[in-house]
Formats: sequence, C-alpha cells, structure tokens
Amino acid sequence: MKKKLLIVDDDKFILSVIIDKLKNYEDLEVLEASSYKEGIKCIANNKNSINAAIIDLNLPDCNDGDMANYTLSKKIPTVILTGKYDRTMKDKLLQYTTLDFIVKDGKKGIKDSIFTIKRVLNNYDTNVLIVDDSNVQRNMLKQILIDMKLNVEVATNGVEALDILNSSEKRFSLVLTDYNMPKMDGMELVSKLREEYDKDQLGIIALSSNEESEVITEFIKLGANDYINKSYSRTEVITRVNAILDLLDLFEENRMMAFKDFLTNLYNRRYFFKTAQNIFDKTKRAKNDIVIAVLDIDRFKTINDTYGHDVGDFSLKRCAEILKETMRGSDLVARFGGEEFCILLEDISYEDTQKLFEKLRLTIENNSIKYEELEIKFTVSIGICYGIGNTLNEMIKNADESLYESKKGGRNRITLRKI
Ligand code: GH3
Ligand code: MG
Ligand code: MG
Repeated sequence: MKKKLLIVDDDKFILSVIIDKLKNYEDLEVLEASSYKEGIKCIANNKNSINAAIIDLNLPDCNDGDMANYTLSKKIPTVILTGKYDRTMKDKLLQYTTLDFIVKDGKKGIKDSIFTIKRVLNNYDTNVLIVDDSNVQRNMLKQILIDMKLNVEVATNGVEALDILNSSEKRFSLVLTDYNMPKMDGMELVSKLREEYDKDQLGIIALSSNEESEVITEFIKLGANDYINKSYSRTEVITRVNAILDLLDLFEENRMMAFKDFLTNLYNRRYFFKTAQNIFDKTKRAKNDIVIAVLDIDRFKTINDTYGHDVGDFSLKRCAEILKETMRGSDLVARFGGEEFCILLEDISYEDTQKLFEKLRLTIENNSIKYEELEIKFTVSIGICYGIGNTLNEMIKNADESLYESKKGGRNRITLRKI
C-alpha cells in the first residue's frame, strides 16, 4: 500500500531537496506544507493515514515546536528539523515517539533525516517476533517495537516460536529471544533457526538478564546477530533493532540488484519470467485471467539519431517512470530490453484493461521530456493479451503479435485481444 509522508518546512529549498531525494522510494506519496496552518489542514484531510512526518521546528505562524507537538500528539513518527541545536527543546520532544532531532546544516542533516524516515516507513511492512515466557518482559518490549511501527507477534517459548515462523504466511525479519524459557530455551531456538535461516535473511537478538559473558559469547557463536541485556533503555532497543533491520534491507537490496535494470530501475527480463511464471501458474489453477502487455517506443532510433544516446537514455527513464506511476504497486513492470517493456496485471476486468492502457498511451503521447534546452515527445505502441493461455510464453507471443499490429496500423495505438 502507498505510504504517506508529510513534510512541513517554510524553506522551499529544503522541501525540494528532500522531495528530490525521496523520488526513488516506491509507493510513497509526499504531502508538502510550508506553514503550521497548511500542516494542520493536511493532517485533517488525511485522517489517520499519514505514516511519518518531517517537521521544521521553527515555522513562521506558530511557536517553536508546535507543529512537531501536533504530529506527535497524533502518534505520527516525526523527524524534527531545526536550524540550530536546542538541547532543552530536544530533550522535551524526544520523550515522545520522536524519531530524531536533526540539525539541517547542509547535506548531512538532510541525508540523516531521509535515512531515518525510510527506516520507519519500511518498519510498517516488517514483521518481528518476541519470544519470552515473562508476560511483563514481553509487553514492555512489544510496546517499544510497536512505537517503532513494526508488526509484532509474540511466543512464550522456543517451540511456539518455531511453530509461528514455520506456519505463518508472513516473512519475519527479526526474532528477539529470551534465554531461560520452558520447553525450548533461547540458545536451542537460535541454533534451530540458524539451520534454516542465514544471518542475512533473519536477524536474531538475544535478551537475557544473565550478566555472564559466556552467555553472550555462546549466543553470538550460535548465530545471534546481537545481544541486549534486560536492563536495557528504550533508545538502546530502538538503535540496535533498527541497525539490524537496516543491514537486512541492504542485503535484500543487493540481492535485488541482480533482478533490476540498471538504467530504469525497473525489474529486468530475468525477474519478470521468474515472478510471472508463479503468478501465471497460480492464476491458471484458480481459473482466473491475467493481462500481459508488451510496449515499445515508436521510432526510438530517431530520438537517438537526432538528439544523441544520452537523450535516448533519459527518455527511457522517463517512460519507465510513467509506467510505474500509471500502474498499481502490485503490477509487475519490467524492461524487457532496448526500448521494450513488459507488464503483467492481475485482478482487472477486460474493460478496465482497455481504459488503463489507453490512458497510458495518451499520457505518454502528451508528455514532453525536458532535457537541458530540448523538449522531446514520443509515443508508444502496445500489444495486450487478456485471459489465460496454455502457457505464459503463449501469452507473451500473443501480446507481441498485437504489438506488431499496433505498429503496422500506424503506431501510437493499443491492440487488445482475448486469448
Ligand atoms: P519502431 O517504431 O518500429 O519500434 O522503431 P524503433 O526505432 O523504435 O525501433 P528499432 O528497433 O529500429 O530501434 C530501437 C533503438 O533503440 C535501437 C537502439 O540503438 C536503441 N536502444 C536500445 N537500447 C537502448 C538504450 O539503452 N539506450 C538508448 N539510448 N538507446 C537504446
Ligand atoms: Mg521501437
Ligand atoms: Mg524495438
């Protein structure tokens, strides 16, 4: 689901820099406001649906900190930006679920605030499991993790934890486990977990009140990523948990690089086939329909020949952006190679398919790409196959034939056929 980030700052430059830096973050809607009044209005218009906020401490139409206090009172995780470091204000605001208090002095401050925001936005989709036999301990830890916007589940011992991890549809990123528990203790749980999940797939933090250093060493040896003593502070938990989750995200990003197209950041052909095959099989079993669309930029060679390869590349990027903006987050959009793209959609009617691709075609036709002094326009031809074929390849071939028809028919058009 699309997430919403509110940014309130009267400095237009800061606003634009932050928004630019967040451009590549998928499925994010950025709401801008430049005053307290606008900020309040924005929150009212988006009842309970704002996921995070970046707030300037000093705004022209309120007292310092009023806006941040307001977002915090609405339980919105907030990064507070300030022109100057103010210790009293910082201490006052950090008592609440503020994420961070950042001085916006040049690059570093902005970078830090975006990093923090990305973490909390990712946390909304991150599942963690607490394993502890003590009710009190479980609830204390749970509250901190909930404040971090993580999705939390609990188990009372190792056996239960394994059950949850093995039977749940959810993918868990982190397990926080106690040491002493009935049935199966923390150490046995860690060694069992590491048989199945590597350190770069599942993070494990061990918790214990045991001060003995052997316990810590043993946990780390068995494969725990980190250890927290039970006399922890709230900040310690937040920092350690976020650090592990950041690392896991980085590993995941690296894994995904093999499936991404470098120029457009869309999925590549390899990923498309891998994922599309699964979706195709599932849909065929359920006797449902899918849509396969193949899209090709018209006379793209002319763009390269007239304006140069850089402009060609830039146009490809813009085309990819429009595809992402027009399709839903759940649609599979890939660059197939050259100036050809392939899209797979589920859960859409024939009529809506027609409307959607006609809209896409028109959006691209009306879009003009600004590159330095130039203004470039181009069109696309699209071939679409609706239904469920015998094989995925058959559907792609069918869409390809329709694309050829669109080209032959004069380009800048869609051809949609049922299979
Ligand atoms: P048509 O309307 O029939 O599709 O004509 P076209 O010119 O778009 O098709 P053609 O297949 O003749 O040319 C595609 C061009 O796309 C040729 C190739 O150099 C260019 N191309 C492929 N990949 C890239 C790329 O990554 N960047 C740039 N700038 N050009 C690319
Ligand atoms: Mg072409
Ligand atoms: Mg081509």
